[in-house]
Amino acid sequence: MSRILIIEDEESIAELEKDYLELSGFEVEIEENGETGLKRGLEEDFDLLILDLMLPGVDGFEICRRIREVKNTPIIMVSAKKDDIDKIRGLGLGADDYMTKPFSPSELVARVKAHLARYERLIGSGMPENEVIEIRGLKIDKTARRVYVNGEEKNFTTKEFDLLTFLAQNPNHVFTKEELFRQIWDMESLGDIATVTVHIKKIREKIEFNTAKPQYIETIWGVGYRFKV
Ligand code: CA
Repeated sequence: MSRILIIEDEESIAELEKDYLELSGFEVEIEENGETGLKRGLEEDFDLLILDLMLPGVDGFEICRRIREVKNTPIIMVSAKKDDIDKIRGLGLGADDYMTKPFSPSELVARVKAHLARYERLIGSGMPENEVIEIRGLKIDKTARRVYVNGEEKNFTTKEFDLLTFLAQNPNHVFTKEELFRQIWDMESLGDIATVTVHIKKIREKIEFNTAKPQYIETIWGVGYRFKV
């Protein structure tokens, strides 16, 4: 669950924001003083900060600047004065978003969600993306070894998955049953190529809308199979 810190000295506004964010499933804390707000923002791991500009103790300008020196936590700055918002935008303090009070709580929630999602993508971008093959409604996630047909996950055995993936990676190429058998089963099994036929049938039942008229794996009579793109 994402934790949000609201630094806001107007209690009614802070409470309203908190209520809406909690209804959306966030864990929310409020600090009414700039000094303690800054301290907590620096020391604790919040996922996002909602920061009022005019605060007792340390103001929002300073809090934003100090936190940005050490953290990339998303910061949404709010102010009752549009002029101030324009001013802080110009200062380039590094806030991620600015809102002028009064704003609708649902807009705040929408922006919070957008910034959290963007930040997660940013954090996650260090990880290599899953290798995915997508052909029309068929999605094969090679990294996770999962198959989705029109968004619905289907269960595949290891060999079914390997066979489907091999064909999909080599589209428009006709493979004989012998070739597929050698490719997928290697030395494990002693040459019953009927296994290939059985597996193709099972794969089709999972991915094809109409197995009599396959749109992915075509049978090339007398030769073998071809993955159609
Ligand atoms: Ca204030």
